[in-house]
Amino acid sequence: RFDAVIVGAGQAGAACAIALRQNGFAGSLLLIGDEPELPYERPPLSKEYLAGDKSFDRLLIRPEAFWAEREVDFLLGTRVIAVDASAHSVNTDGGATIGYGQLVWATGGAPRKLICDGHHLSGVHGVRSRADVDRMIEELSDTERVVVIGGGYIGLEAAAVLSKLGKQIVLLEAADRVLSRVAGEELSRFFEGEHRAHGVNIRLNAVVSCIEGEDRVSGVRLADGEVLPADMVIVGIGILPAVEPLLAAGAQGGNGVAVDAQCSTSLPDIYAIGDCALHANAFADGQMIRLESVQNANDQAGVAAKAITGSGDEYAAVPWFWSNQYDLKLQTVGLSTGYDATVLRGDPATRSFSVIYLREGRVIALDCVNRIKDYVQGRKLVVEGARIDPALLADADTPLKELPL
Ligand code: FAD
Repeated sequence: RFDAVIVGAGQAGAACAIALRQNGFAGSLLLIGDEPELPYERPPLSKEYLAGDKSFDRLLIRPEAFWAEREVDFLLGTRVIAVDASAHSVNTDGGATIGYGQLVWATGGAPRKLICDGHHLSGVHGVRSRADVDRMIEELSDTERVVVIGGGYIGLEAAAVLSKLGKQIVLLEAADRVLSRVAGEELSRFFEGEHRAHGVNIRLNAVVSCIEGEDRVSGVRLADGEVLPADMVIVGIGILPAVEPLLAAGAQGGNGVAVDAQCSTSLPDIYAIGDCALHANAFADGQMIRLESVQNANDQAGVAAKAITGSGDEYAAVPWFWSNQYDLKLQTVGLSTGYDATVLRGDPATRSFSVIYLREGRVIALDCVNRIKDYVQGRKLVVEGARIDPALLADADTPLKELPL
C-alpha cells in the first residue's frame, strides 16, 4: 500500500509528484505508467524530436536522480486495468493489486483511430508517444510521400517538420479549414498559406474512405475515389481520454472524468488531472471541458497536490498554449471557443500578427504569431475580460499594455 498512487507517468502525473513533495507530502508515493520511459515532455515529439534536433534525454521532465532523491517510486511498463474505490486499490495488467490512500488519475488519452479499412496497416502512425515517433523516424529513410490526416496542431507540426526534411506531403482536413476546432478563420488561412508556400499540399473538405495497402500502406483513398499514393500515413485526429477503468469503478464523466474545482472526482480520495479531466473552466464560461495542454496538466497537478496536502486551492488558471511550425511561433492565451468577433492586429503578410477574439465586446483570447509582446501583455486583457474599442486593439503600433482597460 502507498499513501499516494498516481496512475499515468506523463506530464500531469510527474508534475503532481513534484508538487506533492514541494508541498511537504512525506508519505510513500508511487507512479504507475504504461510506457517504459520516465516522464517526458510530449510537445517536442511533433517538433524538435521528430526533426532530429533534440535527443530523448532532453525530453525527460526530470532526471532519474531527481526522483530517487525525493523517494518517488515508479512502476513502468504497467497498465492499471481496474480501480476498486471502496477497497482503495488498483489492479494492474501484471496481476498486482496495489492499495492507495489517495489516488490521482493522470492518464491522458490514446490517439483517436480512423474508423476505416486499412487503419491498422504498417506505416500508419498516431503521434502520442515516443514509441510512435521512433517508429516514424525509423521508416523515414524509405519514405518519400506522406499523407497527414488531420489539420490540427499535431498534424500541422508534423507536416512542417517532414516537409523540411524533404518529404512530399499531402495534408487532408475534413473541415473547410485547418485548426477549425481551436482557432478563427484568419489564423487558419494564414497557416494554410504558410504550409502551401512550403510545398505542403493542403486538401480541405477531404473525406477519407480507406487506407490502401497489403501489409504496408500504399495510399489513401478518398470518398470521391481518388487515391493518394503514400509511403507513410500520419493520423492526428485527436485523442480519446483513457478513463475506462475509472468510469467502470463508478466515477462520473463520459468524455473524460468529471472533476470539481479541487480536481476531485465523484469517488472518494480519487483525483483526476490533465488531458483526461473534464472540468468547469472559468475561461470557457464555466462549461465542462477537457484541455489538452501542458499548462492545464501542470496547473491541475498543483491543485490536486494541494488538495491532498490540505492546503486547498481552486483551479482557475489562465489557459495558454503554443505551437511551432517552420520559423513561426504561435502562442495563445485564453480560449477562443464561443467568440463572436475577431480583431486582426498587424498584417499576416509580415508573418507577425495577432488575432484577438471577443465575445460580447470582451477580450476572451489571443492567438499571437511571432508577437511575443502581444502574448505577454494580452494575458491581462483576457483575465480582466477587457472591453476595448476594436479600433484600438487593431492598432499594432500601440502596445496592448498601454490601452485603457
Ligand atoms: P500524458 O502526458 O499523455 O500522460 C499520460 C500517461 O498515462 C501516458 O504515459 C499514458 O501512456 C499513461 N496511461 C494511460 N492509461 C494508463 C493506465 N491505465 N495505466 C497506466 N498508465 C496509463 N501541449 C502544449 O501545451 N503545447 C504543445 O506544443 C503541445 N504539443 C504536443 C505535441 C504532441 C505530439 C502531443 C502528443 C501533445 C502535445 N501537447 C502540447 C499536449 C500535451 O503534451 C498534453 O496536454 C500533456 O502531455 C497532457 O499530460 P497528461 O499527463 O494529461 O497526459
